[in-house]
Amino acid sequence: MDPTDPRVDCDAVLLDATGTLFYPYPSVGAVYAAMAREHGYEAEAAALDAGFRAAWRERAPSRFGADPARRTSDALEKTWWRGTVRRTFEHAGLPAPNERCFEAIFGRFADPASWRLFPDALPAIAVLRQGGLRVGIVSNFDSRLKGICAGLALAGAVHFIMASAEVGFAKPARQIFDAAIQRAGASASRTLVVGDSLDEDVAGARRAGCAALLLDRERRRRGPDVIHALTELPQRLGIGQGA
Ligand SMILES: [Mg+2]
Repeated sequence: MDPTDPRVDCDAVLLDATGTLFYPYPSVGAVYAAMAREHGYEAEAAALDAGFRAAWRERAPSRFGADPARRTSDALEKTWWRGTVRRTFEHAGLPAPNERCFEAIFGRFADPASWRLFPDALPAIAVLRQGGLRVGIVSNFDSRLKGICAGLALAGAVHFIMASAEVGFAKPARQIFDAAIQRAGASASRTLVVGDSLDEDVAGARRAGCAALLLDRERRRRGPDVIHALTELPQRLGIGQGA
């Protein structure tokens, strides 16, 4: 292959979920604030959005514990989220939420109404499918993922959905990529991973032997391994219009 040709030849495409196919709506802070107010907290969406960003930065390294294998489960994920919601409230100047408030927030993010599809998600998946590719969603998420995907019309659009908590390992661990490649019925070298995380999606995929593209919706990066919208995928794969 011409090294200057950015086209990728593959049989399967594995798509990340949050930041790639859908995003929290109206925002994490807005959902937290609505649930917090229902439980008696005087909460503002903007303060909770800022609080969430701070809490995420602080707690992302511990999401899968100190375990370099990135083992995970529904129980571990929920415990981590409980701590992250508490730190979000604290950063926003609120008292720690009680368990009922946390459960309301956690449950609200199982509701597809708390998420919105990026407008390019379903059209891009449809073109990939028309091109004969196997398409899967592979996400560091818990068992809430499938209900969200069903509500957003993604479940019927792809061949399979795989959440890290079900596999027992989170990206960038090799095990979740291996499981997804097998589920896709492809080989690693003919599998493309697309996601918005350099570490979890791109680096993890490459270590598993897959091709990878970084989806940078903010257009901060450029390069042969970067796309700015999922609508660029068909051309990169040499399928559909523009092939
Ligand atoms: Mg993502």
